[in-house]
Amino acid sequence: MTHTVMRFVDHTITHVPDGGITAQLFCTAGDCGEDSGPQGVPDDAQDWALRHTGRTGHDLFRREYTDHARVTRHE
Ligand SMILES: [Zn+2]
Repeated sequence: MTHTVMRFVDHTITHVPDGGITAQLFCTAGDCGEDSGPQGVPDDAQDWALRHTGRTGHDLFRREYTDHARVTRHE
C-alpha cells in the first residue's frame, strides 16, 4: 500500500496500515441489490463476487475499499 501524505497548514494525514482495509462489493444488476457486506479480508469480498456470478450470471460489481488515516499536528 502506497503511503499518501498531504500537508495542510500544520497538520499531516497519513494512511494507517494497522487499521486494516475493509472491502465491500455491490452487484450492479438493476434488480439485484445484493452485496458482499463489509469484509475485513478483501479476498473474501472478491470470493463473494465470484460465487455470485456463478449463481446469477451477474458480472459487474462496484467495489468500495475503506482504510484508516491519522491526522497529526506539527508542533
Ligand atoms: Zn447480482
